[in-house]
Amino acid sequence: MTDFRQVTQKGKVWFVGAGPGDPELITVKGLHILEQAGAILYAGSLVSQATTLYAPKGCIIHDSKGMTLEEITCWLITQAQQHKIVVRLQTGDPGLYGALIEMVQPLNQAKIDWSVIPGVSSAMASAAVAGETLTLPEVTQTVIFTRMEGRTPMPEGEDLESLAIHKTTLCLFLSITLLADVQKALLNVGWDEESSILVVQKASWPNEEKIVRGTIKNIREKCRAEKINSQAMIIASPTLGAQHWPEISHSKLYDANFTHRFRKANKK
Ligand code: SAH
Repeated sequence: MTDFRQVTQKGKVWFVGAGPGDPELITVKGLHILEQAGAILYAGSLVSQATTLYAPKGCIIHDSKGMTLEEITCWLITQAQQHKIVVRLQTGDPGLYGALIEMVQPLNQAKIDWSVIPGVSSAMASAAVAGETLTLPEVTQTVIFTRMEGRTPMPEGEDLESLAIHKTTLCLFLSITLLADVQKALLNVGWDEESSILVVQKASWPNEEKIVRGTIKNIREKCRAEKINSQAMIIASPTLGAQHWPEISHSKLYDANFTHRFRKANKK
């Protein structure tokens, strides 16, 4: 195991992806950094506090829930002057809706070294816990990570209708309170109202996860009945439910008649 204290001469900030919730879904590298941290700032509204239990004794652990961006960067800079390893622990992967660049620019200005350790995104975890695949041969080979417009405006051309027109897999973050708009956008570009939709709340959180399967038509009602209005992933995809399909196209990779770098095709 790498001794990250040796790697860093002076204080360094590590943006670590905590994964979707289950503390065991952090990467091994992320875990090793937490185990050696002098200070940890975790996003308490989304990261399970259990993940901070990996921290060593005496480590300063602080929840960023009530902090502004300026307070967060100030905290990280101050701690990096006192500790070799400072961790900003973020939900899922830090590079997805994680305000990463907003935090690293002040670190660059303060000449503080930083690195990112990727994490298992909630999009991946939501598909996994529901036994779904995001891609399927001849059905869709594309996944779009997006969100509905909230207080953060959407750049031109990225409204859901423009993206949904391709009929690929759509993983919608930060949008559970806008399900009515999701329904409208999908129907407007020709998705059938009986198309499957999956909503997963708190994917992988021990004892808290909720999986709701429905159609464009009834998903809102179902989520209302389950009282799901935060921390949920919406997946709309033509692959949903594929485990029960009587026939699927198989991946060429495992096709007995297909030669590739590691295997010759069977002779017919
Ligand atoms: N960086 C994170 C996303 C942060 S934005 C990632 O890679 O997953 C926060 C949004 O992520 C939430 O509104 C919700 O849509 C989604 N989310 C985060 N954790 C989740 C979980 N355990 N289950 C389902 N959705 C989750």
